[in-house]
Amino acid sequence: MSVSKKVYLFANWKMYLDYDESNILANALAGASVNFAKKIKMVIFPSALSFYPVAQVLDDIGIASGAQNVHFEDRGGYTGENSAMMYKNAGAKFSLIGHSERRHLFGETNHEVHQKMETALSVGLTPILCVGETAKERKGNKAKDVVEIQLRAALDNLKWKPKDKLFIAYEPVWAIGTGNHCDPIEAEKMCVMIFKMASMLAKGLEVIILYGGSVNEGNIRDFLKQPDISGVLVGGASSKLDTWLQIVQNVC
Ligand code: PEP
Repeated sequence: MSVSKKVYLFANWKMYLDYDESNILANALAGASVNFAKKIKMVIFPSALSFYPVAQVLDDIGIASGAQNVHFEDRGGYTGENSAMMYKNAGAKFSLIGHSERRHLFGETNHEVHQKMETALSVGLTPILCVGETAKERKGNKAKDVVEIQLRAALDNLKWKPKDKLFIAYEPVWAIGTGNHCDPIEAEKMCVMIFKMASMLAKGLEVIILYGGSVNEGNIRDFLKQPDISGVLVGGASSKLDTWLQIVQNVC
């Protein structure tokens, strides 16, 4: 069974691949790209170090690239950081913003997520806002409240252009990199709530909701079957050629 709607397949390579490995995978994707169906919009998020050569290879075959994270200033004394403006100059079209690993491992606050949304939009990068609750918050019946707070903070008073698309990735923290994916029906419930809230907070924009958290070739279709899930953000399974191509194949 194939998936009939337009599908967004976003690949977060995190810090899984070194420079050579990233370039090898990008070239392998370029070699395999003839098989990618038109309905698939693919975006790859390589490491900062590999970004430029990977983006060049992928650009030639119509696959966009994005930053995994950006700093909210354009330039300055921020050792080790890269700005949205710098990514834009290097060919990025997208940026993940507020990924749970940034929030939970590097202490990124809702306020900083908002600043990064602002700066991404100001330089012309399309942000992919990541939201999601921890296991403790879910157990305490707080998942919706936490996600609502994240959405309100991130989307407050942003300057959108009329044709911009608002991408939001619902990524429950407990499902990321654990092999323990969210039940697709449960994910759909959260995505409906996110869709409604985001449509209210960013009036007039097209809102596109993705699911992320241990998506693989075995469960991808169960997520894309859900009416409010338009695509997936994939970490581990996107960093290996065979599993990524299998995911693509299962969508075609
Ligand atoms: C992610 O990094 O956004 C992610 C969903 O990771 P994984 O697919 O490995 O759970």
